[in-house]
Amino acid sequence: MTLAEILRPSCALFLDFDGTMVDIAPQPHAVEVPEPLIPLLRALHRYLDGALAVISGRPIAQLDAFLQPLQIPAAGVHGAERRSAGGQVHLLDTHPLDHVEHAARALAALHPRLLVEDKRGSLALHYRQAPELEQLCLDTMQKAVDESPGMTLLRGKMVAEAKPGGASKGRAIEDFLREPPFAGRTPVFIGDDVTDEAGFSTVQRLGGTGVKVGEGATVAARRLPDPRTLLRELEAALAARTPRTA
Ligand SMILES: [Mg+2]
Repeated sequence: MTLAEILRPSCALFLDFDGTMVDIAPQPHAVEVPEPLIPLLRALHRYLDGALAVISGRPIAQLDAFLQPLQIPAAGVHGAERRSAGGQVHLLDTHPLDHVEHAARALAALHPRLLVEDKRGSLALHYRQAPELEQLCLDTMQKAVDESPGMTLLRGKMVAEAKPGGASKGRAIEDFLREPPFAGRTPVFIGDDVTDEAGFSTVQRLGGTGVKVGEGATVAARRLPDPRTLLRELEAALAARTPRTA
């Protein structure tokens, strides 16, 4: 099935940015946005009645800067932030580590053999020097994580570590699909990277299609070789569906 056959007007289209719509650059800021991309996105947005979103690991502000003057629905930082079609920004994990860190440090203040490690993005409580406190440590961290939306607890060797686990591209796509104009549509997600696999799984579980750009193992049902081919196929899909004016 070609992209033109997959991409019906009743679809919701989710697109990764780097490596999918644009070639990967040596430096993240050095990405070049191909000239046809912005008019293409504008036409897709109209064709899908607004059911188009960018799903990226980048912050939304960076996506806006690359795609200006467009401001389309977007999920950034792998779903940690999401701007819906109405323009509202939803943040996961706004201050998640603050709460976990406070709980961990309070416990460590009572038990000096415990060690709190701030890994910038995750927070670990080590109890190697106090193995008898394992259950107390796990209970304390689990409670703090339960009270911090989007965090999950990892258990390692003599360590309990809180990290953002709720955020994923799959979750961001599901959140979009609960809202207009995405709700009720068949989702299509196009991405290139390992972090996009959650998105492929999500859309295919919901009856849609994942499209992998480039090489590498994937659960996606379809594959395209590179961003340039993707843009050409999207243009062809639009041309096939748009009535010609005589
Ligand atoms: Mg990518």
